[in-house]
Amino acid sequence: MSSILVRNATAILTGLKGAAARAQGTDLRIRDGKVAAIGKLTSEAGERQIDASGCAIYPSWVNTHHHLFQSLLKGDPEGLNATLTPWLTATPMRLRPLMTEGDFRLAARIGLLELALSGCGTVADHNYHYYPDMPYDSSAILFEEAAKLGLRFVLCRGGGTQTRLETQDLSPPSRPETLDGFLQDMQRLAKQFHDPAPDAMQRVVMAPTTPPHSMQPGEMRETAQVARSLGLKLHSHLSETVHYHDAVWSRHKMKPVEFCETIGWLGDDVWFAHLVKLDDDEIALLGKTRTGIAHCPQSNGRLGSGIAPVRALEAAGAKISIGVDGAASNEAADMISETHAAWLMARARGGYEAVAHYRGGQGEGDAASTTVEDVVRWGSAGGAEVLGLDAIGTLEVGKAADFSIYGLDRDPRYFGLHDPAIGPVASGGAADLRYLFVGGKEVVRDGRVPNLDVIELGRQSRDAVKALLERT
Ligand code: ZN
Repeated sequence: MSSILVRNATAILTGLKGAAARAQGTDLRIRDGKVAAIGKLTSEAGERQIDASGCAIYPSWVNTHHHLFQSLLKGDPEGLNATLTPWLTATPMRLRPLMTEGDFRLAARIGLLELALSGCGTVADHNYHYYPDMPYDSSAILFEEAAKLGLRFVLCRGGGTQTRLETQDLSPPSRPETLDGFLQDMQRLAKQFHDPAPDAMQRVVMAPTTPPHSMQPGEMRETAQVARSLGLKLHSHLSETVHYHDAVWSRHKMKPVEFCETIGWLGDDVWFAHLVKLDDDEIALLGKTRTGIAHCPQSNGRLGSGIAPVRALEAAGAKISIGVDGAASNEAADMISETHAAWLMARARGGYEAVAHYRGGQGEGDAASTTVEDVVRWGSAGGAEVLGLDAIGTLEVGKAADFSIYGLDRDPRYFGLHDPAIGPVASGGAADLRYLFVGGKEVVRDGRVPNLDVIELGRQSRDAVKALLERT
């Protein structure tokens, strides 16, 4: 029976709500991969001890939306100053078909490492580039790379039967799949990788890339039925920009969320990335159906999409989680940068919506009411909830030992904080991550993954980008 005692932490945040958001006590005992006790604890014989003085302990982050392949497509000048639709054509749709199997694996490795070094223990990746007779199994590569690091990995299997490229002369890697091909691969992946256990290391999710564009409505309806028959959750992109409203209205005379209701794509087993552009009736419908959001504030800012109404969604009953989105539209695809942005953006939106009293408004109201504890909860417990990984996401006795220890005593950015517990999120920047544990297993120690040469990885990334650009 392996036992670890983490002692003397400055603060322990739990991912829970209200007064329970901060644990009483300074110590955490881990036994057999689970949290065995939290409080003021005394060491036991033969127990490994970790000194966490000067550190804050958080539940490890759960990133609910990513595109790991984009980790080699950061800051592409052709898409850098474009909004979503032209950016899609300029960057991912132009460059992804040119990436080799080796590029794909390298990109996944970079993205997963970046997340791990921010204290992220669970990654849901929306992998959407699949085509007929694809010569390698990108799904398996993602599972392999996550397993090598020791991270929990949820494959959101994307793709579709239609392309948004307006040409008939598509190269093989840009061709869409058939519905049969798509569903057969879903069945294979579910059988090979999906573990329904509440503390699963591997999960599979039904995730056609985007409901209005990836398939016909009847096909989308079928994907929802198949997912539910296999016990899989559903994930996709929705209402990232106003373009969604124009596209869905022109075809169906409906709003995007209403459209999703007609195809069976709302419910407490569904979560959507972005949900930036929502009308009040759409927010109410998402809340009533307990649909979830992967809130991606940095990508939404980078692409000029807007700021998702997360507070209103939560008040309506929707589930809130946080995702970094792909690094081709977020050059800071780590969970510390993302949660820092989520904290600020929720407040910015509140202030943006504030109306002066003399104009009939509420004044400043509660524009600044989003707390660091709210953001920690969204980024940990909220993520676990949308993924249905009920054994993770909070630091409580009996839950899986997925946690991060952040140093606050070596970086001047944290010096002078009256409440050090908020430092990792409130102060932003690169986390001083002392440890990341996933299921009680050590993934990161003192800001490094053992036996992983980051300098060499950087060299490989530069070579890969150079070679990719030579192929364009
Ligand atoms: Zn996305």
